[in-house]
Amino acid sequence: MSATAETGDGLRAIGWCAWHKDIADGVRVIQVDEQGSGPGGVRRACQPCINKHDLVPFAERPL
Ligand SMILES: [Zn+2]
Repeated sequence: MSATAETGDGLRAIGWCAWHKDIADGVRVIQVDEQGSGPGGVRRACQPCINKHDLVPFAERPL
């Protein structure tokens, strides 16, 4: 009974990988910059880059 889906991302999302700088399948949100200036800085990475760079998806990161 809890709706906690905030990301809006499905498990499989095609998007821009900010690490290898190309479109990739299954990207995850890694970092969300909430600075006041400029457009929202959301960086996504594909699974290979997550593994390669030892990244932690934003949704799986403890506060
Ligand atoms: Zn990548």
